[in-house]
Amino acid sequence: MTSLSEDQQSKKAAIQKGATVWGVIAGAVVGLLALWLLGGQGSAVRFGGAIVAAVAVGVLAFRASFNSGAKAAKCAACGAAFSRSRTDRQETVTASTPKEEREEQEDGSTKVTRWTEDALDVLETYTCAKCNDETTRNFQTTRRRDETETTEPRAKPKAEPKSGKDGAKMGSWGGGGPTKGDSPKGDQG
Ligand SMILES: [Zn+2]
Repeated sequence: MTSLSEDQQSKKAAIQKGATVWGVIAGAVVGLLALWLLGGQGSAVRFGGAIVAAVAVGVLAFRASFNSGAKAAKCAACGAAFSRSRTDRQETVTASTPKEEREEQEDGSTKVTRWTEDALDVLETYTCAKCNDETTRNFQTTRRRDETETTEPRAKPKAEPKSGKDGAKMGSWGGGGPTKGDSPKGDQG
């Protein structure tokens, strides 16, 4: 078994870190799901089951992610593990298309989103740290840019103003009349 160089070790650590994040997320999701599914059980069964399910799924997710990362980082030419990393990325814009999306709002106005969609041709170069073998990956993708968002008012103001009876307001006539209640009471002793 060959010992890993510093580059390979840091690459391995990065892949492990990513796999750990996936494992924790998957474990947490499944654990919470198990807690919910075992809602009718006693608390020992409920929490025990949730922990077992979370750990099992977390480990599986970690392994799957780590293996796929390790496989991608393995050099096909010399077989060195954790040696392949991206060294270059070139993007070529092959087409730019203006796009528009209209969304009706509850108040009758329209939210208009406009952007330019670039079609990209991406060429990535991966280099092996051990034998300097270069491999390239070519793929197409799209990217939004210059996104703007405007709101257009409703097109037809067909809603008439409600003709409410503009009768006189019922004033409150009941006034507080002058109360004559301050007749002095004679003290009777
Ligand atoms: Zn190599």
